[in-house]
Amino acid sequence: MLPGCEGGTVPDPRRGIPRTDALLALPAARAAADRLGPNRVRTAVRASQEAARRGELAPEAVEADTLARIAGLESREASSLRPVLNATGVVVHTNLGRAPLSDAARAAVAAASGYTDLELDLRTGRRSRRGEGARAALLAACPAAGDALVVNNGAAALLLAVTALAAGRDVIISRGELVEIGGGFRLPELLTATGARLREVGTTNRTHARDYSGALGAETGCLLKVHPSNFTQAGFVTDVPLTELRGIASEGGVPLVADLGSGLLHPEPVLPGEPDVTSALAAGADLVIVSGDKLLGGPQAGILLGRVDLIDRLARHPLARALRADKLTLAALEATVIALTAMPGPAAATPVMSAVRADPQRLRDRAEALAAALPASLAATVVPHDGRVGGGGAPGVALQGWAVRLPERLARTLRANDPAVLARTHDGACLLDLRCIPEADDDVLQRVVRAALAAPEVLPAPAPDLPTGPSTELPHVPAGGEAR
Ligand SMILES: *Cc1c(COP(=O)(O)O)cnc(C)c1O
Repeated sequence: MLPGCEGGTVPDPRRGIPRTDALLALPAARAAADRLGPNRVRTAVRASQEAARRGELAPEAVEADTLARIAGLESREASSLRPVLNATGVVVHTNLGRAPLSDAARAAVAAASGYTDLELDLRTGRRSRRGEGARAALLAACPAAGDALVVNNGAAALLLAVTALAAGRDVIISRGELVEIGGGFRLPELLTATGARLREVGTTNRTHARDYSGALGAETGCLLKVHPSNFTQAGFVTDVPLTELRGIASEGGVPLVADLGSGLLHPEPVLPGEPDVTSALAAGADLVIVSGDKLLGGPQAGILLGRVDLIDRLARHPLARALRADKLTLAALEATVIALTAMPGPAAATPVMSAVRADPQRLRDRAEALAAALPASLAATVVPHDGRVGGGGAPGVALQGWAVRLPERLARTLRANDPAVLARTHDGACLLDLRCIPEADDDVLQRVVRAALAAPEVLPAPAPDLPTGPSTELPHVPAGGEAR
């Protein structure tokens, strides 16, 4: 008798597994076979059947699993980018494409991907302003802004603002804010590339209002305040808040520009130290710059909000054309901002905000369900694990949560899987933090982990490491930030 079997007949789990020809006859399978060739589709069918024979899949789930594998084949065929389940606990992970888009944003991208009325008013048949929908959504979300402009990314927004306002003149900036963002991107180098002169004031740790006023002069193009978004300073530290810089900029008759980095539109209770657009405008910034794909939770974009005359000046600058956003970005951004405006409360409008606001108890329950579903031999345990905002927001803030602790060797196997699962390796363990995994994918994750257990030795050559340096088995945020 088989172990664990109390007599009687053993139901043969293979009995209910759909036959190969039945699966190959599914319309999606036939269509995929036409495009990709029959062999690859047959391989997908066999993989699902095998999973069912190993008991990892109920026979009734084989058809859906086959269809998912075929969809995976087709998406991989279309581009080399592969989907990843982010089990690192780092919400905005630059190596993983920063913000995952909401369903609404994905639908908007799909709808805009063909011919679309990007610069046409369909009622009048006349040309219209590009990106009008995204602009209107941003202005509705931030009524304090006179106007808005969307460009390629945060760096492009800064480049455009400083070029238009200060090329050939001085940009006054605190020495404490001359930051390196990551990937070797140094803000002072970008600023000087515009042809503006850096007028550094203060020291690394302390800058005072008198430092700014002392530097004001006929050559000043703008005052720039940059949020140090990937590190924190503690101790003998002073900087000058926007409200005070407002007075100094007015005194000098120059614009006050605030580069906030991450894109909160309103204050976020979970991240009390993180600046936001509405507060920065209320404090007197003339122009605010944020990225679209950090805490805003949208597509890669640079967003400029502020005074009508300044936005107009930027929009007319020749560089604006070189830096403009494409229709897919504008569609995704509009959908993202509309959702954020519709649900500003605790309900999370974007996957980024769901992950940031995830309830620790819920994370613990999910982690325990996953651990319980794994073979006892693994000795999976659930341990406290802090998540991070990562990628340019809320440096040093620990997001309280939990992780499933597994043997370290599994990390590599999980990463090689399809979909790939990126775990955190730390302290000799492979940690799976469910914060950034949609609950709907918990089943997929469970299946992947079980498959990894079943077949660690069948793995081919080790998967290449992510290109983030030597310690990226787990690209986790070190003390204060992340390579971005
Ligand atoms: C991230 C960041 C940028 C660059 O934005 P990208 O969208 O990555 O180009 C600029 N400034 C600050 C303060 C940032 O945090």
